[in-house]
Amino acid sequence: MNPNINDKDSRKIVDIIQSYAQKHSLWVLAYGTGCGAIEIPPTMTSRYDAERFGITGRPTPRMADVLLITGYLATKTLKRVIRSYEQMQSPKYVIGFGSCTINGGMYWDSYNTIKSLDHYLPVDVYINGCMPRPEAVISGFVKLQEMISNGTANGWEKYRDNLDLYRSQQKEVIKNWQMPDYNW
Ligand code: SF4
Repeated sequence: MNPNINDKDSRKIVDIIQSYAQKHSLWVLAYGTGCGAIEIPPTMTSRYDAERFGITGRPTPRMADVLLITGYLATKTLKRVIRSYEQMQSPKYVIGFGSCTINGGMYWDSYNTIKSLDHYLPVDVYINGCMPRPEAVISGFVKLQEMISNGTANGWEKYRDNLDLYRSQQKEVIKNWQMPDYNW
């Protein structure tokens, strides 16, 4: 072993290699909550070919790194989305897709949809638009990759450290809260 490399340096090297691998293998659980889901097939298939960036779909939360919320979110669906997020392994990332996840969009005064996704889950990247085109979706993923590289994609840590706050905000809109505890 090179005597000029100490423990701290070798940990730094491991972190760099790890974040490089993570950012180039983003496995996505696409939760098709709104109309934006219709942009996912062209993003993933041959025309835009998101897989060249290491982005690919996965069928279960336990296999996924990225939770993609593709539009407006009914409070009834929010409960399932929270459950799916909590089943994912850390580090994990959330992308809010479309205006509806940012401020409610055209459903801003609806009685049964949420307005701001980051009140309930830690959103790392928002992609605006109604609906965002595949170019915008890919650009959102590239932004996430940059954040993973520079260590700022840390929403999952924020969620862990502020779980009580998130829980209280989640329970304000989900009245029939009956879910297993978050198992870290
Ligand atoms: S942002 Fe527009 S396209 Fe996306 S879910 Fe809302 S209304 Fe639909």
